Amino acid sequence: MRFSILTLFPDQVRNFLSESITGRAIKQGLIELDTINIRDFAENDYGKIDDTLYGGMTGLLIQCEPVYQAWKSTFGKDGDRPYTVYVSPKGKVLDQNRVMDLSKKDHICIICGHYEGIDDRVISEICDEEISIGDYVLTGGEIASVVIVDSVSRMVEGVLPSEDAYTNESHMSGTLEAPQYTKPPVWHEKEVPEVLKSGPMANIEEYYRIASLVETWQKRPDMLDKLTISAEDWEKMLAFKKSL
Ligand code: SAM
Repeated sequence: MRFSILTLFPDQVRNFLSESITGRAIKQGLIELDTINIRDFAENDYGKIDDTLYGGMTGLLIQCEPVYQAWKSTFGKDGDRPYTVYVSPKGKVLDQNRVMDLSKKDHICIICGHYEGIDDRVISEICDEEISIGDYVLTGGEIASVVIVDSVSRMVEGVLPSEDAYTNESHMSGTLEAPQYTKPPVWHEKEVPEVLKSGPMANIEEYYRIASLVETWQKRPDMLDKLTISAEDWEKMLAFKKSL
């Protein structure tokens, strides 16, 4: 899978993604990462790609043509355009379902704005969608682009050691992951639940299933509202909560 990031700060994007799991995936060729500096497509010799806003608003806006030319430079040899995303606080907020859909694309181009953003005419002409990473405003789109590349890469086959590594994770099936524990078995008088140490496997699986529902109930009740939970499971959840 290929990502092309259009940005004024390629090092910011590359430095973050060259570490850890994404860094390994790039080295192994499981994902390909191109960072394209929009400034390289300036229409002047001094690399200016922004200008003042019409209408007397304060600040600077990135101009259409450098973004358009930078975008065209990402096309494949056969002239195929990438699926194109503008990261913006006006976009639909990213969630795990969108991440899974995006992981099915072959080539995604992510456009990062800066200053007051990008001239709307080029966004409406070349972008397939706008994605926000939350209802707040960042200085630039670089962090948002890294969030998309990281979360989508995890879904690409071979990036994580096995499918098990992500199938039970929070948000994969509308719930949060159950609390997890590692050694030692007792820490600050807090004990790891007995069933997780002794099994059998069927009991462990049932423990995790109910613990995950209770975790969601406690931390994200809005998510629980979207699930259909049987009367029997509600009883198990109540009993579990009492035992905490
Ligand atoms: N003037 C814009 C507005 O009010 O909608 C905000 C511009 S912001 C300072 C600069 C750039 O950061 C945006 O063009 C966008 O690419 C990126 N950005 C800011 N907040 C974001 C968010 N919540 N999600 C994704 N990208 C964001």
